[in-house]
Amino acid sequence: MSNSLLDTLTTAELACPVITTDHQDYDRYRKVWNGIADRRPLAIVRPQTVEEVQKAVRAAASSGVLLAVRGGGHSIPGLSTCDDGLVVDMSLLHSVAIENDTQTVGVGGGALLGDLDRATVPKGYVVPAGVISHTGVAGLTLGGGMGWASRKYGLTIDSLLGAEIVTASGDVVWASSTWNPELFWGIRGGGGNFGIVTRFKFQLHPIGGIVVGQWTYPMENARQVLSALRDLTRKQSHDFTVSFTASQAGVNVTTVWSGDAGLAKAALSPFGTLADGASGGLEKLPYLTLQSRNDVALAWSRRYYAKGGFWSDISDNAIKHIIEAIAHVPAPDCEIYAIQLGGAISDIPDDATAYTGRDAGYYWLSEPIWDDMADDDRCIEWGRTTGRLLSDASIAGNYVNEQSDTGSSVAREAYGPTKYQRLARLKARLDPANLFRLNQNIKPQA
Ligand SMILES: Cc1cc2nc3c(=O)[nH]c(=O)nc-3n(C[C@H](O)[C@H](O)[C@H](O)COP(=O)(O)OP(=O)(O)OC[C@H]3O[C@@H](n4cnc5c(N)ncnc54)[C@H](O)[C@@H]3O)c2cc1C
Repeated sequence: MSNSLLDTLTTAELACPVITTDHQDYDRYRKVWNGIADRRPLAIVRPQTVEEVQKAVRAAASSGVLLAVRGGGHSIPGLSTCDDGLVVDMSLLHSVAIENDTQTVGVGGGALLGDLDRATVPKGYVVPAGVISHTGVAGLTLGGGMGWASRKYGLTIDSLLGAEIVTASGDVVWASSTWNPELFWGIRGGGGNFGIVTRFKFQLHPIGGIVVGQWTYPMENARQVLSALRDLTRKQSHDFTVSFTASQAGVNVTTVWSGDAGLAKAALSPFGTLADGASGGLEKLPYLTLQSRNDVALAWSRRYYAKGGFWSDISDNAIKHIIEAIAHVPAPDCEIYAIQLGGAISDIPDDATAYTGRDAGYYWLSEPIWDDMADDDRCIEWGRTTGRLLSDASIAGNYVNEQSDTGSSVAREAYGPTKYQRLARLKARLDPANLFRLNQNIKPQA
């Protein structure tokens, strides 16, 4: 450990675990979700209180080392870890507390989506969030947060009522529509640029059982499947969401219905006859089951790359690129995924939050998945090339949470010039030295 960081952390008298390179479990604690991000921080601080988060932030600032902030560890580019710096691992601050009177929930900055769903769903409530239960609430929320309940209730940020944040100066502030409203605007899509969130407060929404239709079609029918899916999806209610995954295994179409169960069959079953060769069917599921049933497919420690974007619709050109890309995958689990957006997401004006892309009909992702380090270059190249081709058919704006490539152009392109300048001014006010720079970074500019 660098002496100055060691000295500073020692002087700070942290009561929480501090994992250094000589700790017997160092390798376990330094691990993050993406196996590619094999980094060796100087120390990992695991705060149990807000005061310990403040001390860790001040220690990083005064010793001048790189600072990484980790919620659920699912940053695809591995931005929640670093070489030779300090990681603030928030995972011990994972409590979830429901306020029944106000139908709100307080969620610690290190909670996972599974922690949140397991606390709220059995009580009949949901916060719309992502589709894999081991993802972190913090990183997902700060970028926007989309999943099965988003067309019905909006992005995760659309249910955010406020957040407690430790800023670069080590101060604690509350951000909501009435307290620090500009910061509240910025954290709803601006990622981890503005500080460490120790607690979120979300509005809860009612959720019951859901009906899921899932079918797999042979890849040779992909053109017919995807164009029929596009046509069927154009006029769907907010209770309906579709996603698809194209891979060597075929085109997997998943539809979710969260409205009146009596209407589910009529809404979903047409997606089982998009082309010949479908296997699958309809089932009633508890919402919790839906939220965790793909956890294994996107397991920890495999190797991942992602490049995504927004489509207004699924164009013929996009379908052509999908078919060509899947014909040339470098590893069997490489895939192209898309989830339908719109609905309640688009009911909110684009300038209401930093998140940019509310007019989109779909979010798509070119996502190579592999295990052997020797395949890194060709899998990443496939992901990048496929992403570039699919970007041709995309609209402006982007989702900062699912981009492996980093660099100043990513955030600029995602937010567009007007929002980027507004975010850069906020960054200059709150983090002029860019302490929080391991993210899709917004450069401070007054
Ligand atoms: C398997 C998988 C499934 C996914 N599914 C979805 C999905 O369905 N919908 C969706 O919208 N996105 C999805 N994503 C993308 C996801 O939103 C991002 O990867 C997100 O960053 C994960 O959050 P995390 O806390 O786990 O990440 P981490 O790696 O812990 O953190 C990512 C970044 O978030 C910031 N951050 C983390 N914690 C805090 C905190 N407490 N305070 C301030 N900043 C913090 C930091 O800048 C950090 O670099 C998925 C990602 C994966 C890997």
